[in-house]
Amino acid sequence: MNILVINSGSSSIKYQLLDMDRERVLVTGLVERIGEVHGGLTNRTNPGTKNERLIQRSPTIPDHNSGMRLVIEQLIHGQDGPVVGDISEIHAVAHRIVHGGESFRQPVLVTEKVIEAITANVVLAPLHNSANLEGIRVAMELFPDVEQVAVFDTVFHQTIPPYAFLYALPYELYEKDRIRRYGFHGTSNKFVAGECARILDKPVQECNLITLHLGNGCSVTAVKNGCSVDTSLGITPLEGPVMGTRCGDVDPALHAILHRNRGMDIEAIDTMLNRESGLKGVCGLNDMRDIHAARQKGDEMAQLAFDMFVYRIKKYIGMYFAVLGRVDAVIFTAGIGENDSEVRESVLSGLQGLGITLDKVANDRCPDAWMRINAPESRVEVLVIRTNEELEIGRQAVEVLSQELVRESPFWAATLQSGMVS
Ligand code: ADP
Repeated sequence: MNILVINSGSSSIKYQLLDMDRERVLVTGLVERIGEVHGGLTNRTNPGTKNERLIQRSPTIPDHNSGMRLVIEQLIHGQDGPVVGDISEIHAVAHRIVHGGESFRQPVLVTEKVIEAITANVVLAPLHNSANLEGIRVAMELFPDVEQVAVFDTVFHQTIPPYAFLYALPYELYEKDRIRRYGFHGTSNKFVAGECARILDKPVQECNLITLHLGNGCSVTAVKNGCSVDTSLGITPLEGPVMGTRCGDVDPALHAILHRNRGMDIEAIDTMLNRESGLKGVCGLNDMRDIHAARQKGDEMAQLAFDMFVYRIKKYIGMYFAVLGRVDAVIFTAGIGENDSEVRESVLSGLQGLGITLDKVANDRCPDAWMRINAPESRVEVLVIRTNEELEIGRQAVEVLSQELVRESPFWAATLQSGMVS
């Protein structure tokens, strides 16, 4: 089964065509700068194999519809021959949706009702959900005969109990406006939790984990018996550790102080906290690689930003140890988590009291799909696992489609049960 995974942003569309029978990436690509004079298309066929082909172009891409048409053109009439002979060889389209609110506890087939519910959640994530909806609309128009599946970043965290997801605000704000912690990076968390269970050779339902998703956006999640029980990102992806340009945790009275003392309005404050804060706010740099380069030259502000980044993550590890009681593994993932041995070493230093001891030599290696970096005497395993959100979205889409087949056709139910189709 070939599934086209779409991650539609406000000015970009990331895509992957996956052969889900072999869990192989056929094509991966990015349409970017939609709406600008010079757009961008990067399309990689057979990535990571000796047959890899890269195409890069800068056409004007006025809107998402033309962007998606460009994607289809690459798949069917690519310069190096078609990836699929016909659009009918794309069996389903799976969409990454950032905010499912409380409406979705699992991935679903897209219907008019589902679109309505995603639209209702636009207030919670205006930029993200509007762009995701645009992706759905365009895909429905261009693939009219193909099932569309919506996979939500928030779903994995729907197991968090009320005492952990509620903010201590007047309760009616939750009842009327659904103001609460939702959490994000759920697809990544589900993927790495599954991989971790496989590595530990344990059912995921028996795994207690602390996941450190450290990329541009950062989050820490406590996973108990395979389910999320707390996470650092909140009603929006702003709360928690220090991030590239986002502030993470601050005293909420900050808004009033900035307004009163500096006359800043709410839009200006929001922009500052999301785009001009975090590592960038402290030292002017938001990419961890640049921060290391600056630290090496003796830049004290870069060092301070690094120290703040590490310290905040360490605090979350301590909190989630207390939440979980027993921890089987700490997992590092995403851009910084997977690649930055110095961040990993600094985050874990001094945690022997919690049963965590790092193997520094192992930590300095570069992971393939995963690697173990704890010393043999460490009570807690420490794993670096490369996340793969697209594959997880593909897997969840296959699950939704199989359930749908079972619901619609007893014949399929019997066939699936007999194991004749995987
Ligand atoms: P996103 O949250 O946008 O998905 P990623 O998970 O791709 O982000 O992470 C991007 C960040 O990862 C970059 O901003 C950079 O700070 C960091 N990063 C990527 N590669 C490395 C590396 N080799 N060493 C240190 N940091 C890295």
